[in-house]
Amino acid sequence: MGAFNSLDVTIDCPACQMTAPREIQFRYGTVWQYRYRLGDVLRWDRDHVGDPDASDVVVDGWLCECPGCDHEGRIAVYVRENVLTAVGPVEDVPQLAELEWLALPREQSGELTPPAAPWHGADDDGGGPGGSAP
Ligand SMILES: [Zn+2]
Repeated sequence: MGAFNSLDVTIDCPACQMTAPREIQFRYGTVWQYRYRLGDVLRWDRDHVGDPDASDVVVDGWLCECPGCDHEGRIAVYVRENVLTAVGPVEDVPQLAELEWLALPREQSGELTPPAAPWHGADDDGGGPGGSAP
């Protein structure tokens, strides 16, 4: 216990806007103090956190101290097809619990949208098309 992986990013500090290299600690994939950068593929060994088959995931991470203002705090880490793709404010993902991870809908693109309605209706016309089916 207590282990975590690290993601090295250079971002603007949410508190003082200073652009600096920062470390994000997170627990997803095999958790063994691996160091990653954006674009790296997560490792999945026997013991792991999360779901290697999930295509889009957001992970709650911890953004370590800002060298300028000592800010630290939660940050969202986005994983697509097991690749670390981006980080963003946790306010964008209100469903994400601290130290947890969350699978996103497959067709998500930047914002959470409910799944499309299933195909229904059009049966009221009586028969409908379909005569062209082989
Ligand atoms: Zn700062």
